[in-house]
Amino acid sequence: MSLESVVSLNVAKFGGTSVADYDAMQRCADIIIANPQTRVVVVSASSGVTNQLVALTQAETSVEESKALIKKIASIQYQILDKLGNPSDVAARIDHILSHISTLSERLKLTRSKAVMDELLSQGEMCSSVFFAAVLREKGASASAFDVRQVLRTDSHHGRAEPQIEMIAELAKQHLEPLLCDQVIVTQGFVGADSEGNTTTLGRGGSDYSAALLAEALQADAVEIWTDVAGIYTTDPRLAPNARPIPEISFNEAAEMATFGAKVLHPATILPAVRQKIQVFVGSSWAPEQGGTWIRHQVKSEPVYRAVAVRRDQTLLNLHSLQMLHAQGFLAETFATLAKHKISVDLITTSEVNVALTLDKTGSDSSGQGLLSEALLQELSQHCRVRVEEGLALVAVIGNNIASTAGVCRRVFEVLETYNVRMICQGASPHNLCILVDEAEAANVIGALHENLFEA
Ligand code: ASP
Ligand code: MG
Repeated sequence: MSLESVVSLNVAKFGGTSVADYDAMQRCADIIIANPQTRVVVVSASSGVTNQLVALTQAETSVEESKALIKKIASIQYQILDKLGNPSDVAARIDHILSHISTLSERLKLTRSKAVMDELLSQGEMCSSVFFAAVLREKGASASAFDVRQVLRTDSHHGRAEPQIEMIAELAKQHLEPLLCDQVIVTQGFVGADSEGNTTTLGRGGSDYSAALLAEALQADAVEIWTDVAGIYTTDPRLAPNARPIPEISFNEAAEMATFGAKVLHPATILPAVRQKIQVFVGSSWAPEQGGTWIRHQVKSEPVYRAVAVRRDQTLLNLHSLQMLHAQGFLAETFATLAKHKISVDLITTSEVNVALTLDKTGSDSSGQGLLSEALLQELSQHCRVRVEEGLALVAVIGNNIASTAGVCRRVFEVLETYNVRMICQGASPHNLCILVDEAEAANVIGALHENLFEA
């Protein structure tokens, strides 16, 4: 089959739990084989591996602890290797990656180089891609592992590198597209390379982003995100047992949604797909027969209430300055400082002398560093008083025409009587109403909202 005869091209991404072990990979391989349009597969590291690699990069990790971590990583990988029908196919490759992990971890004891950290962090995806291609071949498919660093060009901001869209498109045309005619290509999520060929990473959870970037570069027709939940629900079913799956949702609603169902799928990560109007599917690799959710540019129905979403572990930054009274430029100065420190702001409210904003943690630095550095706080403190509040959760009511439908606020707030609402954002978007509440109360707030908006 030539690429032209493939009517449409799918990019499928499998998260860490979907490629956790050999059996999980088998299920994913069946999904790939069932759809001949899927020619590009993007995989995360097997569940837990990136966390262990992150621990290896930490300065405080002792030599003994490092040894234990490397052993743990090796045991996850060898369990997969041992189950392969033809392990010799990839054994040397995996051994090489594991010894590379040891070397890099030793090198980090001598230098705290972020480039070395990224090289180390990328090794989980290197292993899972080699294994996944082998599992596909075992099932009779023609498949190879492909080093994504040949095409996923980024800047050199290690830990959270910025992809270079045009270069990626060019490189993908050159190096990746020709390979797709007669085989399935399995490649690494989360990983990139700068113009010098140094390995970079896109930030934690970056594999969805990788899939969307490759789909954009290859002008694919769909991106499938396979995870451990059957799509997007009206809310996390663990918080509201009557939560229902949503078969179809618009990009606009999705873009406002902080979390998708029980699983985080930040809109920024699928932005490249949104840009190109490439439809995105979210489904469970454990139960593909249950279907999932399609995120599309245009959808058939546009209900006022579509979902209630939550994003935990929120930081609220409160800035106070009398400079703000009848002055210009305070916000400009503040945002310039935040931008300089690569902080992306999520919600914002202002009063005459205060600005409150929440920080967007998506893709926080791969090495697990906090967003609020001492340097940033000091710089902000030079022109205002800074207060940081933690332990908050952002709850979002997602839907359509929210800002222009009478009675929405009443229905939302009537069930919140006994809860303290720390911050409210409404009006900027027709698709959401956001409230910030105490993290400890978030589950109850979600339950109450879901019942009132979806179960009445
Ligand atoms: N393996 C990386 C992480 O755990 C990337 C991903 O899973 O999306 O953050
Ligand atoms: Mg993951």
